[in-house]
Amino acid sequence: MGEQTGRAFVLCGPTAVGKDTVLKELLKKIDKVWLSISATTRHPRPGEVDGKDYYFVDEKHFLELVTNGEMLEWAKVHGHYYGTPRPPVTQALASGQDVILEIDLGGARQVRKSLPQAVQIFLAPPSWEELKKRLRGRGTEDAAEQKIRLATAKTELAAQDEFDYVVINDAVANATSKILHIINNCEYNKAVHS
Ligand code: 5GP
Repeated sequence: MGEQTGRAFVLCGPTAVGKDTVLKELLKKIDKVWLSISATTRHPRPGEVDGKDYYFVDEKHFLELVTNGEMLEWAKVHGHYYGTPRPPVTQALASGQDVILEIDLGGARQVRKSLPQAVQIFLAPPSWEELKKRLRGRGTEDAAEQKIRLATAKTELAAQDEFDYVVINDAVANATSKILHIINNCEYNKAVHS
C-alpha cells in the first residue's frame, strides 16, 4: 500500500438500525472523512437527492457499470441493486482522503477481498424487538417490504462476528462517539485482526 493513501472504513448494519442518522452525526464531528455515494436502482424516498444520497440509475446503466469494472463492490439488496462506484473511492484514497462506505453484508464481504485494509464496523441494534420497532416507526416500507428487510436483518446480525468492531446503536450520540473513537484510534492495516 502506498504511503500517502487514506484509510477506508466500512459501516454495515441491518435495516433501520440507524446507519444514516449515525453517519450524519459522525460527519458533523469529523471533516477528514468522505462518505462514498452509492449507485442504486431503487427509487428515491421523499427528500432524497440524486448525487447526494445516491446516484439513482436504471438497471441497464447499473449493470453496464458492473460489466465495465466500475463498481468496487455491488449487491442486490431487498430486490434492488446497490454498488460503490470505484473511481471516486480510488481517487480519494490515493489523495490521502479517508473514506467511509455504507454498504450491506455482501458488499462488506467483497470489500474484505478488494480492499482488505478497510476497517469494518458493524452497527447493531440493542435488541431484535427494538430493531422491529424502529423499522415500523420510520414507516417508509409497507408490511411486505418490512418482512423482507427483517429476514435480511437476521442474516446480517448472525454475521456480526466477521467485523473488526461491533457498535451498539442504543443512542445516536453514544454510537457516534464510539465510531469516532474507532476512526481516531484504530490500528490500521488489520492489526485489529491479529
Ligand atoms: P436503503 O435502501 O435503506 O437506503 O439501503 C438498503 C441497504 O443497501 C442498506 O443495508 C445499505 O447499507 C445497503 N447499501 C447502500 N449502498 C450500498 C452499496 O453501495 N453497496 C452495497 N453492497 N450495499 C449498499
